[in-house]
Amino acid sequence: MSLAQRSDAVHVRAPGKINVYLGVGARHDDGYHALATVFQAVSLYEDVFAHPAADFSVTVRGAADPASVPTDDRNLALRAAKLLAEETGVSDGVALELRKGVPVAGGMGGGSADAAAALVACDALWGTDLGTTRLHALAARLGADVPFALHGGTAVGTGRGDRLTPALARGRFDWVLVTSEQGLSTPDVYGRLDRMREGSALADDEPLSLDVPVGVLQALRAGDAQALAPVMMNDLEAAAVAERPELDLVLADGVRAGALTGIVSGSGPTLAFLCAGPEAARTVQEELRVTGREALHVHGPVAGARIIG
Ligand code: ATP
Repeated sequence: MSLAQRSDAVHVRAPGKINVYLGVGARHDDGYHALATVFQAVSLYEDVFAHPAADFSVTVRGAADPASVPTDDRNLALRAAKLLAEETGVSDGVALELRKGVPVAGGMGGGSADAAAALVACDALWGTDLGTTRLHALAARLGADVPFALHGGTAVGTGRGDRLTPALARGRFDWVLVTSEQGLSTPDVYGRLDRMREGSALADDEPLSLDVPVGVLQALRAGDAQALAPVMMNDLEAAAVAERPELDLVLADGVRAGALTGIVSGSGPTLAFLCAGPEAARTVQEELRVTGREALHVHGPVAGARIIG
């Protein structure tokens, strides 16, 4: 019997995300940039199992390159479990088992999803019953994208991306994701953006007032992929493409294959192609696969971190 099949383990599933819109403002003194973003949780998941244990440990399965995910205190899921124990005075440990479905360093918040899942799983395992507000506060301390992985659905994120307001999104949106075997470092992409902006007004210390364009919210509310496509935007895209020039070719290939539009997801290198519906997405997926790309058909919005079974 594998560890995960033991009935005393808690299994939580948390989704990866796409930034349908990502406006990046000035860099603050704490190193973070002001963001105005719209997240959508999509049907590509991290499965986290929390097993009772005396100490803290984490094992990782399913990563294309296992060495890319730390299993020491740098692991975000382990940090989440330890933070929860510290805050609640729990003296138990946990053996976390991560089954990764979201590409590592792919710009889809896989590590953040693990952290959100670990919070929910340990809260259930230890019976600490923190409730949404306190879990959200702990999530925000772990990383800017962690609150959204708890929340799921579609949401506007401001501040560092961690101040969330739910956004209405009707129906379902079909996406084709093109993943890369080799990830991109989020700090490298932001660093590249900073250098690209040097000397421009955006390099000023003054924080920008950023807003998500109303057209993005209207298209989501209407469930209208055709209207959403032309207003999607990612300020990190040029920097991600500068780091990984071949992304531009793949973006063009996806549109040629019939996608309404393509965008770099977060800091990349995953590309997200919005399609008119499930059938169109299957066609785009097939055509991209013929060109030798790893293409996945997913949909959004889906729920945030949830206990399974
Ligand atoms: P970010 O959340 O910084 O935008 P991302 O979504 O592009 O990142 P992640 O898969 O979350 O990518 O991982 C970014 C880095 O975080 C990895 O390269 C890895 O070193 C580290 N990391 C820490 N914990 C985890 C985890 N549980 N899963 C994956 N990576 C992790």
